[in-house]
Amino acid sequence: MAKIVMKFGGTSVADLDRIRHVASLAKREVDAGNQVAVVVSAMAGETNKLVGWTRELSPLHDAREYDTVVAAGEQISAGLTAVALSAIGVSARSWLGWQIPIRTSAMHGSARIEQIEPDLLNARLAQGQVAVIAGFQGIAQDNRISTLGRGGSDTSAVAVAAALKADRCDIYTDVDGVYTTDPRIVSKARRLEKIAFEEMLEMASLGAKVLQTRSVEIAMLYRVPVRVLSTFDPDNGGTLLCDEEDIVEKKPVTGIAYSRDEAKITLHRISDQPGIAAAIFGPLADAGVNVDMIVQNVSADGKKTDLTFTVSRSELARALDAIEKARDAIGYRDIISDANVAKVSVIGIGMRTHPGVAQTMFRTLSEKGINIQVISTSEIKVSVLIAEEYVELAVRALHSAFELDAA
Ligand code: ADP
Ligand code: ASP
Ligand code: MG
Repeated sequence: MAKIVMKFGGTSVADLDRIRHVASLAKREVDAGNQVAVVVSAMAGETNKLVGWTRELSPLHDAREYDTVVAAGEQISAGLTAVALSAIGVSARSWLGWQIPIRTSAMHGSARIEQIEPDLLNARLAQGQVAVIAGFQGIAQDNRISTLGRGGSDTSAVAVAAALKADRCDIYTDVDGVYTTDPRIVSKARRLEKIAFEEMLEMASLGAKVLQTRSVEIAMLYRVPVRVLSTFDPDNGGTLLCDEEDIVEKKPVTGIAYSRDEAKITLHRISDQPGIAAAIFGPLADAGVNVDMIVQNVSADGKKTDLTFTVSRSELARALDAIEKARDAIGYRDIISDANVAKVSVIGIGMRTHPGVAQTMFRTLSEKGINIQVISTSEIKVSVLIAEEYVELAVRALHSAFELDAA
C-alpha cells in the first residue's frame, strides 16, 4: 500500500467527461489499495477568464480580491471531482486551501506555501477517503485567500506530497512527460525517461511550463519522487525527476526552453562610474520589478556607456515608470524599450564537462541569420535574447544542432 498524490491540470478536468475519467484513474489507485489525494486545477480556460474579468474592471485591482476571484476555478473542479468519485462508489471529499489549511505568505497573486497541516488529511486518508484538494490556493496570514502564481497547482501537489510524506507525486497533464523541448512547437521533440532536478528547475524557470518552477524546488528540497504522465494515456511514457547521479548518458544539452514573456530596456549614455548600476536597479527593485539579463557596453571614451537589461513583458510598464522617475539620479540621455523579444535557452548538466556549447549555439543561430541581442550563462545553461519572430526557428535549429531530434 502506498500513499500517493495525483495532480490533474486544466485540460485533464476540462469538461464533465474528463472529470469522470480523472475519477476513474483515482479509483484505480484506490482499488489497488493505495491512499489517494487528488489535486486539481481549474477547468481549462477558467483561470484566464477570471483573470480577464478582474483586469477589465480595474487594471490596478487589489491583489487580495484578485486571489478571491481566481481561486474560484479550483473550488469548482475540486467539488465536481469529489462528486464524480462518489458517483462511482469511491468515498471522497473536497478540500479548499483554507480548510486543510495550506498556509502561505501574504504575497497575493504569487504567494509561497509556508506550511501545510497534514493531520486532518492523514486521518481521512487512513479511513480510505480520497482527499480532493483545490490546487493553486491557500490562506495567508491576513486570513485571506491567496494564490500561488500561474501554474501553481503543480506546487500545491508537490507540497502536499511533501507534507503527507507521500510515496510519490504523479503530475498528470496533456503530454506524456517532459520533452527535450515543447512538443507543441517541435514535432521532433523527444520524451525524456528521466530528468535531473537541477535541469528541470532551469527548464521550468526558463519557460517550460510543464511544471511550475517552485514545484521542482520543493521536490528537490524534500526529496519527493515526482513523475509527469499523460492523463489520456496514463500507462505509457512518463518522466521521472531524479538526482543527477542517476542520469547515465550526459549529453552536453538535455533540453531547450523558450520564453516570450520578455522585454528589453536600453539606457543610452549613462555615466561609466561607480554607483550608476545601483541608481538604476535600486528603483526597479523597489518597484517590485525582477531584472533578468544585463549587459553593459565598454565606454569608448571612459565616460559614457549604454546599458541593456531585460524584464518580464508584464512588468515593462512598471519598469519604465520606475526608471523615468529616477531619471535625475541616473542621468541617461534616452531610454528605449522593445517588447518583441524572446529568450531561448539550452540546458544540460553535461555542459559542465563538454565545452563548446555556447559556440555551437551562437554558430547555429548565425547560420539562420538570427541576431543575438543579449547573452547570459550559468554552469548548466546558456540563454540568448532574440527577436520574438525567430523563436520557433531558433528552437528547431538548436534542437537539431544539439542532436536532440527524435529518429
Ligand atoms: P496543465 O494544465 O496540465 O498544468 P500545462 O499547460 O501547464 O498543463 O503544461 C503542459 C504543457 O507544457 C504542454 O502542453 C506543453 O505544450 C508545454 N511544455 C513546454 N515545454 C515542455 C517540455 N519541455 N516538455 C513537455 N511539455 C512542455
Ligand atoms: N488554474 C491555475 C492557472 O491556470 C493554476 C494551475 O493550472 O496550475 O494558472
Ligand atoms: Mg500547468
